[in-house]
Amino acid sequence: KLINSIDRSLRSRAEQVIPGGMWGHMSTRYLGDAYPQFFARSEGCRLWDVDGNEYVDLMCSWGPIVLGHHHPAVEDAARRQRERGDSMNGPGDVLVELAELMVDTVPHADWVMFQKNGTDATTACVTLARAGTGRRKVLVARGSYHGAVPWCTPSLAGVTTEDRAHLIHFDYNDVQSLEEAVDQAGSDLAAIIVTAFRHDIGRDQEMPTAGFAQRARQLCDLQGAALIVDDVRAGFRIDLGGSWEPLGVRPDLSAWSKAIANGHPLAAVTGSDRFREAATKVYVTGSFWCGAVAMAAAVATIKTLRDTQAIAHMRDMGQRLRTGMEALASRHDLKLRQTGPAQMPMVLFEGDPSFEKAALFCASALRNGAYFHPKHNMFLSAAHAPADVDRILAAAEAGFAAVAREAAAG
Ligand code: PMP
Repeated sequence: KLINSIDRSLRSRAEQVIPGGMWGHMSTRYLGDAYPQFFARSEGCRLWDVDGNEYVDLMCSWGPIVLGHHHPAVEDAARRQRERGDSMNGPGDVLVELAELMVDTVPHADWVMFQKNGTDATTACVTLARAGTGRRKVLVARGSYHGAVPWCTPSLAGVTTEDRAHLIHFDYNDVQSLEEAVDQAGSDLAAIIVTAFRHDIGRDQEMPTAGFAQRARQLCDLQGAALIVDDVRAGFRIDLGGSWEPLGVRPDLSAWSKAIANGHPLAAVTGSDRFREAATKVYVTGSFWCGAVAMAAAVATIKTLRDTQAIAHMRDMGQRLRTGMEALASRHDLKLRQTGPAQMPMVLFEGDPSFEKAALFCASALRNGAYFHPKHNMFLSAAHAPADVDRILAAAEAGFAAVAREAAAG
């Protein structure tokens, strides 16, 4: 059993001064009571909650931690920059180094601009596409997550119809529905925005088919619209050059964040020359967008990803996890659906529409030292070694046993 008295007391204090105790996706309200809300420390692929319980991490801060918590090269670069300056009256010289590195690393990129959060980047992409085309309609896949402002947030609280007046929805990977949406937009089509692959919460992940990706590119070319790939979640975990690079499809604009600086706050928009002029005209900025520390961290992160086999390693560890999970589940006569890229695992139980098996599994795995998510995709990092995956599997065994016991009892 987890000890959680410090977490409990922090939560009750938080209830008084923070609406609902915690906002957004990191609220444990979505995870169940077993989960700790507050953390004390993290290192490599481990994290410790405020009560001192240790977990092998499978969320990696929901994506940002790609090399492992406190990666020495990244923290060293950040510390050296912090000693020189962070928030100044303009960017540090590191901005140019980072921009050159991004343009060298991402084949579709002729230029780059930096922000702080993924939402800043996706929203800037949409604004840029409209500025560059002089049009209004933006095609968005049903259920895709692009951020937390009125045009894209999943909650409609506080959102007006006008905020979304120029969005048209289609189904991911469905060429016909994409074509119908393009027809509906007619000559007012500014952009098609797509996530790197389908990673909507609570459903099987789906890689884009080559046919879908190519058709999206072709339709944008035919209509003079912008193809935007939202690589905020998958960027730097699938392919350093962008997640659609293996498909041979290059976007006009791409949004990046999460893994770009291994946990330091940074986002980016990369674009082609076609949108360079539009990018000089839109007014996008923020008080902290020039922070030099995050940029120095990003240079170190991207160079480390480039110079090591980090992505291949994450994929291998993800495959080790997937194979192990499958074997354990079948030993308990349980059927799993494990989908998407192995390094971004989505684990769902067959016959579990309200995620009750998932909740039971996760609570038990958590008590045994592995931090799973019941219905969101998870993230491996370069710091996960085979022994860590085996440690996760040992915790998972307890989770499967709990689910099997419940099934036998019920
Ligand atoms: N796009 C995608 C695909 C995301 O996964 C996220 C974050 N989960 C965002 C955009 C928004 O990023 P942020 O939360 O940093 O604003």
